[in-house]
Amino acid sequence: MQTRMEKFTILFPNAPAYRMKQMESSAFRPEWTSWNDASIFPKDMREALEKNIPWLSYKKTQILESKSRDSYKALLKLLDGDMIETVLMANTKGLWTICVSSQVGCPMGCLFCATGKMGLKRNLSSDEIIDQYRFWAIFLQEKKLEGAITNIVVMGMGEPLLNYKNVKEAMSSILHNTEIGQTHISISTIGVPAALEMILEDKHWPNILIAISLHSADGAIRKKIIPSSSDDSLEQIAQWSKKYIKKFGNRSHFLMYEYIMLKGINDSIADAKKLVKFVTTTGNIKVNLIPYNRTGSEFESSSDETIDAFFQYLKKHRVMVTVRKSLGNDISAACGQLATKK
Ligand code: SAH
Ligand code: SF4
Repeated sequence: MQTRMEKFTILFPNAPAYRMKQMESSAFRPEWTSWNDASIFPKDMREALEKNIPWLSYKKTQILESKSRDSYKALLKLLDGDMIETVLMANTKGLWTICVSSQVGCPMGCLFCATGKMGLKRNLSSDEIIDQYRFWAIFLQEKKLEGAITNIVVMGMGEPLLNYKNVKEAMSSILHNTEIGQTHISISTIGVPAALEMILEDKHWPNILIAISLHSADGAIRKKIIPSSSDDSLEQIAQWSKKYIKKFGNRSHFLMYEYIMLKGINDSIADAKKLVKFVTTTGNIKVNLIPYNRTGSEFESSSDETIDAFFQYLKKHRVMVTVRKSLGNDISAACGQLATKK
């Protein structure tokens, strides 16, 4: 699939560099509704653009609003008919976080995740990732909702590190063309060893925050709930985390481990003890506990009391820990609930 920029360079092979920049930045003008509005281009160029390059990479949308009005989920129909979901959540009053998808479906098949049940249909293009941001920027403007998008989490459908190039391109473009800064974008990964290594070597990697979906510090349990992970995935994550912290870590640039709380599976004090050991021997890493959101899987969420006991145990042992507030459960917009059917 050709990107808008690739199409542009074919359409205007002799376009100077500043025209390419204008082309890229025109995606970040939510007040424009088509190439006709892109007044930075002369009329003949606008006409050629209008004829040859789709303004947006989705055509139809459906939006669900949570009762509390602090989260919205959109189903976007892409130009080829594939569907993806993306979420808008209030972080503080008038400031918004968006959750974007990186693939149609996901091949990793984690047992607790609705997207995992879909399998992988395809990777999203960089335009399709950027356009989830555009979709919400347009939405905020049209709905006259107060505030702007300040944070992005790449935690929607798909495993972003299996779509390294396009995710990287999309995040770099957003960083270049919006006010959003590197530490306000987080990418969540189940841990794809080759791609994680690539990040360490990649001079052009946009240095955004990384969250690793750890979910257990016991190799056998992790393998059971994430069947596609390797037998030594914990060892790999530990080694990689050490290298990452050495290279990139500082006060504002931290590494995060996500930990889904599954009743009777990974939520005992013995599990917390293993996690403390893993985190403290690996480095100064924040832990985010995620209450399990229902997806029709065999699992149940740990009770509030169990989550609190787990949290207190980590805190007592000096692990920096937070519990994720779950938004959008009533519209199946919470972590792990994103899945689409044709
Ligand atoms: N593929 C990436 C990013 C998408 S999932 C990853 O797995 O990290 C984003 C986060 O939602 C991950 O931490 C994932 O473990 C979590 N998640 C998946 N299913 C969930 C569920 N049913 N309830 C709560 N969190 C879930
Ligand atoms: Fe894929 Fe992440 Fe869901 Fe696992 S949790 S199936 S990696 S989207």
